[in-house]
Amino acid sequence: MRSSLEKSVVLVGGGISALMSAYFLKKISPDKSIYIIENSSKLGGKYSSFKYEDDLYFDQGMHVIYESCDEDIDNIYREILPESEWNIFHKNEKDIAGVFYNGKLQHYSHYIDLRNVSKNKYQLYLSSLFGSLNKPEDTGSAEKSLRSRFGDLIFKENHAKILLNLYGQEPKNLTDLAIKLTALERVLMFDEPEMLDLMKSSLIRSRIGFPNQLGLPDIRPNEQKALYPKKYGMQNFVDAFEAKLKELGVFVHKNTEVENITLDSGAISSIDVRVSKTENINLAVDTLIWCAGLPSIASGLGVSFEGVQYEQGRKIVYVNLIFDKPINTGRLYYFYCYDQGFSTHRVTNYSEYCPDEKARNRFRCCVELWPEKNNLIPDDLTEDNILGIAISELKTFGVISEQELKFSSVEKNVGRFPLPSLNNQNALNELRTRLKNINLRNLINIGVLSEKEIFFLPDVLNDAFEKLRGAFK
Ligand SMILES: Cc1cc2nc3c(=O)[nH]c(=O)nc-3n(C[C@H](O)[C@H](O)[C@H](O)COP(=O)(O)OP(=O)(O)OC[C@H]3O[C@@H](n4cnc5c(N)ncnc54)[C@H](O)[C@@H]3O)c2cc1C
Repeated sequence: MRSSLEKSVVLVGGGISALMSAYFLKKISPDKSIYIIENSSKLGGKYSSFKYEDDLYFDQGMHVIYESCDEDIDNIYREILPESEWNIFHKNEKDIAGVFYNGKLQHYSHYIDLRNVSKNKYQLYLSSLFGSLNKPEDTGSAEKSLRSRFGDLIFKENHAKILLNLYGQEPKNLTDLAIKLTALERVLMFDEPEMLDLMKSSLIRSRIGFPNQLGLPDIRPNEQKALYPKKYGMQNFVDAFEAKLKELGVFVHKNTEVENITLDSGAISSIDVRVSKTENINLAVDTLIWCAGLPSIASGLGVSFEGVQYEQGRKIVYVNLIFDKPINTGRLYYFYCYDQGFSTHRVTNYSEYCPDEKARNRFRCCVELWPEKNNLIPDDLTEDNILGIAISELKTFGVISEQELKFSSVEKNVGRFPLPSLNNQNALNELRTRLKNINLRNLINIGVLSEKEIFFLPDVLNDAFEKLRGAFK
């Protein structure tokens, strides 16, 4: 076994949180020895891309970078790729999203539209909404939160069905995060002129959406922008990042598993890793930054899982497609499907946030399927079955009609979407407590769900950098 006796900062998990953290630490302490240990064959995690022949990339569904509104973090993006190599989206162009709901593809907003109902039902919905406005918000579960925001009737006839369809769980068993994951925190109830007036109230603004996302008045509290590489494929950014880190002297080990973590006097003293199933290395540890999920570090440290039952979420299948003409989604970057009877969870139209691709007449689209929503077991389906489902549903959404398919690929081994259930939240809370009780002074947990409700990249990185600044003063 090879040993490195110099104490190093070791980051386990090579997703964006690890890359950003390693770069930041090298900037503040250039002499620090830093290792990134990644168990797959590429860095980037969910921000990596599939690579097909002829350098054809496909991202994992919709993954643009939203800034964290923290200079230390946001400047890094421009230090890895110069500003001229990014498409940068401001204000209303930052996130143009829609939803397929009640048989209609909404291009104007991703909040569910409750205006298309009978006059009588609309009056009842208004009573449901206004009856709840003066009540305090209850965030104890998705159900409690939605009932307190929109009243019982709106919740029962809309959100309850949507959440059950998405996650296969009653909303009383889901957390508030379930509402944020697909933007269920607002509904559309009023037309533009009325909304312009009503939105002067921050309470209304927090519950009622503006029914024309591209015409939303400039009321955002910050200047957060969205970034996507000009050259299609988030992997281009990840590859540039890897090259930069190596240039700075960061050691990157891919296809590498953590075999053993050794403790000594209340700290992690060393870690054994196995590179490409052939070479073992023992690294003396200054600090271990775990960026690969709480369950794996808990298991690596021998924490008891007694009473901790983690429930699996929906299995994801990506169907990557290229058409000869633009798909019929207008300006949308992506839309969710909330209606029952569909396997589609989300459709991404890459051309709108990477327009350079249009010039090459390549119109990429990713259909993210959650087949279990429709009682289908992905492993029982052939790739042809899956492709057929995606194409048929795109036709029903009205997204394709005349378009000719130029390329398709089905990606089945991409894992599951984390189930935002109260049970899982409690399980992770319990693991956090048990990990804290071991009281290791040189372990930092960052990344997706390392803390409650930390999921999207800006939150992941804000949390990570706060911890890094605290630990490496
Ligand atoms: C299923 C899923 C879907 C998502 N969809 C979206 C979305 O559509 N839009 C969006 O904005 N955000 C989405 N997110 C959130 C977003 O992906 C994260 O905020 C972001 O990827 C955070 O990066 P990370 O480095 O913490 O984690 P990840 O990107 O998950 O990277 C973790 C890395 O750790 C590696 N790893 C795991 N276990 C080990 C181990 N034991 N040893 C070594 N390496 C290990 C993995 O291979 C991976 O490279 C999604 C997250 C998940 C989990």
